[in-house]
Amino acid sequence: MEYKETIYKTPVKHGLVNYEKTYKNFNWDDINRCFDHFSDDGVNIAHEAIDRHAENGCKDKIAMYWEDEDNVEKRFSFSDIKRQSSKLANVLRNLGVEKGDRVFLFLPRTHELYVSIIAIAKLGAIAGPMFSAFGPEAVKDRLHDSEATVLITTPELSQRIDEIKEELPALKHTILVNAEKNLDEDEHSYESETNKASESFKIRWVDPEDDLFVLYTSGTTGKPKGVTHVHNDMISHYITTKWALDLRDDDVYWCTADPGWVTGTVYGIWGPWLNKVSQVVYNGRYDADKWYSIIEKYKVTVWYTAPTALRMLMKAGNEIIKKYDLSSLRYICSVGEPLNPEVIKWGLQVYNLPIHDNWWQTETGSIMIANFPSLPIKPGSMGKPFPGISAKIINSKGKVLAPGKHGLLGLKSGWPSMLRKVWANEEKYNEYFKISGWYTTGDTAYMDNDGYFWFVGRADDVINTAGHRVGPFEVESALVEHKAIAEAGVIGIPDTERSEIIKAFIVLNRGYKPSPTLKKEIQGFIKKRLAAHAYPREIEFTKDVPKTRSGKIMRRLLKARELGLPTGDLSTLEE
Ligand code: AMP
Repeated sequence: MEYKETIYKTPVKHGLVNYEKTYKNFNWDDINRCFDHFSDDGVNIAHEAIDRHAENGCKDKIAMYWEDEDNVEKRFSFSDIKRQSSKLANVLRNLGVEKGDRVFLFLPRTHELYVSIIAIAKLGAIAGPMFSAFGPEAVKDRLHDSEATVLITTPELSQRIDEIKEELPALKHTILVNAEKNLDEDEHSYESETNKASESFKIRWVDPEDDLFVLYTSGTTGKPKGVTHVHNDMISHYITTKWALDLRDDDVYWCTADPGWVTGTVYGIWGPWLNKVSQVVYNGRYDADKWYSIIEKYKVTVWYTAPTALRMLMKAGNEIIKKYDLSSLRYICSVGEPLNPEVIKWGLQVYNLPIHDNWWQTETGSIMIANFPSLPIKPGSMGKPFPGISAKIINSKGKVLAPGKHGLLGLKSGWPSMLRKVWANEEKYNEYFKISGWYTTGDTAYMDNDGYFWFVGRADDVINTAGHRVGPFEVESALVEHKAIAEAGVIGIPDTERSEIIKAFIVLNRGYKPSPTLKKEIQGFIKKRLAAHAYPREIEFTKDVPKTRSGKIMRRLLKARELGLPTGDLSTLEE
């Protein structure tokens, strides 16, 4: 929806001062010079993000203000993170972890999660962060596909995977944070091992093209795929954080995302620390009072969050805001789903600041399109391409479409943080580049006459619920594992708060009857098995699920029927 008003900005003095000029003259190679050790001898993002700051006069600067739901507070300086990550890197090396090995993280947002990701990078190993809301099925898929050798988790979360361990022959060690139980042979206590370890660790210099992290994300078909990024990503992480999030040396920054989502890894770890910025980590669930108290207490200046959270804050009302001093805030950004103009208007009213929407994906590794501090905001638009990024609206043959025309959002391939592979799946990787010269995003959009991009929707069946990307196939597969379910078709339906919610059409096995109790049971089953965010909020029991003659579920038809839209070509529908 195009919104007529434009929010004009006052001139800015820092960061990306002149968008047009910078866009025209931008060269990625110039950014390499911002790093300490970007040479043919090798690089390491952990050195650039942590160790160099700890060694160059910022050892006492706070890297992380940490707080949890019970108001426990901790502070970590850059030298604390350097020391603790070196200790853990030594522990991992003693367990046999080498460059290229996969170490997976199944942790809430404890400080150990952040330290672990740095430690893994120091070794040249590959980190695989996972949401702590995942159930056994989701964890198994990821560990199995990546052949992870080490898992770092808590005793509580590890119980969820006890039943699947047998199916993971590559998994050799589990490191448990806060283990108070007797440990099995393959289990190690995080605390006692790191206490014993040396705090001196020689960083492994790697090739910029060596793998850094793998994050699994959903497509329309098949299991989640392991989108793999490399150390060279640091070029994009560093400069996009500086220019799109407008971070400066003296900022206190809060990214509300979990590292299980790419936003939490890139802009909740690497981006701010490459920029030597102090950041806040809140390990807890959304709560309007708590969130505002965090901004007040830590005097947060830059806040990066998501539309669903902003809509929930809007729903919590304006009175609550009056209880807190939010005057430290100077810049707000949002990502993950369409940001509706109403929220921007509300933000202007209550925070006295515009909210800057930006667009990117797990695969792009960094912000691609953004509303920049120096540009006017058109509420509802994702903004303009980042310098060095060529974004265009194209058709299925790669022809660039004129302004105003809806089409596929394509990016000219080759920026530093573009995905380098899909783990063990070259075919999936190649699918992104089917249109010659272009990386295709799977999104549809249009560009207006001023060069602003507007999100239209997904070109595929992928569901975006509260910023979580969910593949319908994964939910369908988990559903049919329930004893009552014979068949299931899953779609996303529009929702004012969460962008979309998941709806499942379910055919029951003989002997089972539809009932509200069964619905609840099925929802609980998916929450536990797959992930808390991936359960169908709506369930409709039906006699059959429409399929093509070749047996594929026709989600397009389910959606058209649900939304009262034209059903299109039905020639392939099974009779
Ligand atoms: P993920 O890789 O999980 O971050 O999901 C990326 C997808 O989220 C994109 O392909 C879009 O469909 C959606 N998305 C991300 N940012 C925005 C945005 N600013 N506006 C609309 N959709 C977005």
